[in-house]
Amino acid sequence: MRRSYMAGNWKMNYTRSEALSLVKELLENGSFKNKVLVAPPFTLLETVSNAVKGTELILGAQNMSTAESGAHTGEISPLMLKDLGVQAVILGHSERRSIYGETNEIVNTKIHLALKHSLEVIFCVGETLEEREAGAAEKIVRDQVLKGLKDISEKQMESITIAYEPVWAIGTGKTASPEDADDIHSVIRKEIEELYSKETADQLIIQYGGSVKPSNVKELMGKANIDGALVGGAALKAETFIPIMEYNK
Ligand code: PEP
Repeated sequence: MRRSYMAGNWKMNYTRSEALSLVKELLENGSFKNKVLVAPPFTLLETVSNAVKGTELILGAQNMSTAESGAHTGEISPLMLKDLGVQAVILGHSERRSIYGETNEIVNTKIHLALKHSLEVIFCVGETLEEREAGAAEKIVRDQVLKGLKDISEKQMESITIAYEPVWAIGTGKTASPEDADDIHSVIRKEIEELYSKETADQLIIQYGGSVKPSNVKELMGKANIDGALVGGAALKAETFIPIMEYNK
């Protein structure tokens, strides 16, 4: 039985005091039967790290450099994340891919580097609307999985969660139907079985992301291959994130 995993991606939102009040509300009013992560922007990591110390709330970052140190103006290295108590990092988010030109190869480099520094990874994949309408969703996602996981060992897969996020459903209010999402999740699981083994495929946590809200979490999580959610907008308020993070499959 896979343990459900709910992650909140705060994107570029909040100041330190706003972040602190959200985290306090999650800790005081939420429960942690599921694995739960929040990923604040870099500037809030230290504040949130201090607030979650000794709790079950996992601290994640939204991105990370391809390098450990050096001449990379504006970048943040895995060593810096570790120093702040960060436990996991979201890599390959569609906003990183589409706005900042991250390729599958860049994402693969980042995954290797994160794992080298013992950071867990939430590895995002997903097709655009044009790709879906052209009937290429499965092919695109399979390709992203294959290239993103190049030279990742079966043992390293224990530290990887895959998040399927159809780009057209992120921040748009449109959600993939639970059936469509589950179909792609099963394509991903099958590919992991082909690349590694049935055991690794069975253990893999696959989150769905794209306008997850308290009102649709039940039908999404009702699907066999959906093991959790990567949540943007609804993760910004305790009243919408708590019912999602506590959802009992
Ligand atoms: C996301 O940022 O990964 C996301 C899924 O956002 P939203 O829930 O707002 O669609």
